[in-house]
Amino acid sequence: MSYKVAIDGPSGAGKSTLSRAVAKKLGFIYIDTGALYRAIGLYVYRNGIDADSEKAVASSLSDINIDIKFVDGTQRVFLNGGDVSDDIRIHAVSDYTSKVSAYPAVRAFLLDTQRRLAESDNVIMDGRDIGTVVLPDADVKIFLTASAEDRAERRYKELVEKGQNVDYDTVLHDVIERDDRDMNRAVAPLRAAADAVVADTTGFELEQSQRLLMDIIRERLQ
Ligand code: C5P
Repeated sequence: MSYKVAIDGPSGAGKSTLSRAVAKKLGFIYIDTGALYRAIGLYVYRNGIDADSEKAVASSLSDINIDIKFVDGTQRVFLNGGDVSDDIRIHAVSDYTSKVSAYPAVRAFLLDTQRRLAESDNVIMDGRDIGTVVLPDADVKIFLTASAEDRAERRYKELVEKGQNVDYDTVLHDVIERDDRDMNRAVAPLRAAADAVVADTTGFELEQSQRLLMDIIRERLQ
């Protein structure tokens, strides 16, 4: 018997940082599904495919092979054999990813991969539709959120630390635009599952958010 924890929520809510930390504490495997979508976004970006054309993106999927491997316990993402774990994080790729992830063909393409990854072990999986679509029977479902301004500030600091040249207003604008696209797409829109616990971390330090998540998970897994 293995445990499945699903963590969904909008961009920049701290899902990946918190999920990684909590998974480590619990001895669970952490799976970041955004990285799979980002690998498709990267492919489209690199190959000059029109991200606004559902048809063009859908027909490129047969040329794409995505895999995840764990190196020293850390997830690495491979696109057609090459490790793209760093390249998928560049700012331009976020926008491509949010566009392509709205297409049903892209979501169907990644569904089996995600379910297969969750099969073997105790896992914490984060994304947008894990509790609603990918793992509807997850033992714990958390919808992690925070105000758009808080989330933009975190993302802005992250990007500046990585040496990327961005300004806060652009990041905030992008966060709001991406939220809107994630929440209003026809297939698997971002929303809390009916049986999810909503965790709002607006104004929280990382430590506080981590404690909140640990408390929710421990209580449900008892
Ligand atoms: O989580 P992250 O910000 O890396 O995800 C990048 C993009 O991938 C999101 O903006 C969202 O559009 C998409 N995504 C998704 N479903 C998931 C994970 C990510 O649609 N399960």
